[in-house]
Amino acid sequence: MNYEHVRETDPAIADALEGEVQRQNDTLAMIASENHVSEAVLEAQSSVLTNKYAEGYPGERYYAGCEYADEVEELAIERAKELWGAEHVNVQPHSGTQANQGVYYAVLEAGDKILSLDLNHGGHLSHGHPANFTGQFYEVEQYEVDADSGYIDYDELRAHAEEFEPDIIVSGYSAYPREVDFEAIQEAADAVDAYHLADIAHITGLVAAGVHQSPVGVADFVTGSTHKTIRAGRGGIIMCDEEYADDIDPAVFPGGQGGPLMHNVAGKAVGFKEALEPEFEEYAEQTIENAKALGDRLQEHGFELVSGGTDNHLVLVDLRPSHPDTTGKDAEEALEEVGIVLNANTVPGESRSAFNPSGIRAGTPGLTTRGFDAEACREVADIIYEVVDNYDDEDVKADAAERVDELTDEYTLYE
Ligand SMILES: *Cc1c(COP(=O)(O)O)cnc(C)c1O
Repeated sequence: MNYEHVRETDPAIADALEGEVQRQNDTLAMIASENHVSEAVLEAQSSVLTNKYAEGYPGERYYAGCEYADEVEELAIERAKELWGAEHVNVQPHSGTQANQGVYYAVLEAGDKILSLDLNHGGHLSHGHPANFTGQFYEVEQYEVDADSGYIDYDELRAHAEEFEPDIIVSGYSAYPREVDFEAIQEAADAVDAYHLADIAHITGLVAAGVHQSPVGVADFVTGSTHKTIRAGRGGIIMCDEEYADDIDPAVFPGGQGGPLMHNVAGKAVGFKEALEPEFEEYAEQTIENAKALGDRLQEHGFELVSGGTDNHLVLVDLRPSHPDTTGKDAEEALEEVGIVLNANTVPGESRSAFNPSGIRAGTPGLTTRGFDAEACREVADIIYEVVDNYDDEDVKADAAERVDELTDEYTLYE
């Protein structure tokens, strides 16, 4: 990757950009929400479309000179419709959170009720956390995963809905390793005449590839991030039936945003095109197979996984049973030292804090993009075990760092 113009103008930023390329090449990106986009997506995202104001929608812009912006946005929409089978698509949300904001703003009034999964149980800030606008503008109650099984208890959710009578139920999660039964949640929403927002931010790619059931055509609204498993340009997306199109579009612009980030919309379009190729289905299948291999081997080493395993691209390790004196931060920091980048995460029944929780979350989307197979993921699990089990032993960490180097040398990323 070449940053010659940046280097001429701004050497400090050029150093940081080159440093970041090297960091991504030399470490294992196992933060479950991250991925590595193609050079084609990178080029599109850094294109001259960053200069263009295109407030409005294709064919009805508030500014002149939008013929190429229109073409880009129409292609992004068309491809998204093909990928997920949605009737109506809005590709303008700047992020997954902005996509959710668009839905809430479209159908809720201040003070309306949201029922969503607790953050400690795998939910997301934008689903009603007190630190997010959703927690302040709406009345929020939260459901939890079953304390024993780690699975969502759909009967309990429905009972909670019948008691609380929410205006909207939110499904879709940030740290839930199991397949989501969107139809069961839709039934709960129907029972209380609530909307259902399925936020598939993490599993957009798995749903597009058909390796996870789809909420499109089931839930009223489906939102997502476009830079996670779907591996396209950074941002958000909203999908819904045609009947809601005239509620959603004005809620995104002008309701919550100004001009769209057209360079990112171009990155979304290019990534969606890549995801329509047959190879993407193999990628999505391999991502899940890799997460299962990683999880199985971690369990062989004595780690406890929330819910006992995974159906998707991530595993959530509760360190308390195997390593009661090791916090998620201890593990995260020691692993980062050896080149494995993942995050400390809260777990159901959390007994520490959000800042220093008891678990770690690890995902395989980034590794699978590099070409990792199940065997390579078992090797990663072995390294994770050695490091977490001996997190202040410098010799163990030096050996682990060498093993990570071998993997990053074998499975190369950017030139
Ligand atoms: C990542 C995520 C989002 C937010 O995405 P941003 O693009 O970071 O705003 C929303 N919902 C869920 C469930 C997520 O995991």
